[in-house]
Amino acid sequence: MEEKLNDQELEKVSGGKVINDYTDPAGNRHIVNFGVLDLCVGCGACVNKCPMQAIRIVGNVATINESDCILCYYCVDACYLGSILEKETIIPPEPASAQQS
Ligand code: SF4
Ligand code: SF4
Repeated sequence: MEEKLNDQELEKVSGGKVINDYTDPAGNRHIVNFGVLDLCVGCGACVNKCPMQAIRIVGNVATINESDCILCYYCVDACYLGSILEKETIIPPEPASAQQS
């Protein structure tokens, strides 16, 4: 039976759990998320591999319960589509002209 995603769950699917957030010496901010990409077809192969029962299929997409996930990465290996992964977003520093003097 399909369940509806609420806004909070949708945010988790698109963004994923933040597992690292730091600024490098050059001022670039690195945000690393762990989550499910929209490649997911809801096959469920990852669900049985999760030792924490942290994954469920909602609306034909795997969703990870962040509070239960221990980052063991078993689900990453289980997904033949490579749909579960770490994703790094790099945000460059503000231009000097935009900063207040
Ligand atoms: S990383 Fe491990 S604990 Fe987290 S969802 Fe995947 S299999 Fe479950
Ligand atoms: S194994 Fe991959 S495609 Fe299948 S439900 Fe899990 S994340 Fe989605």
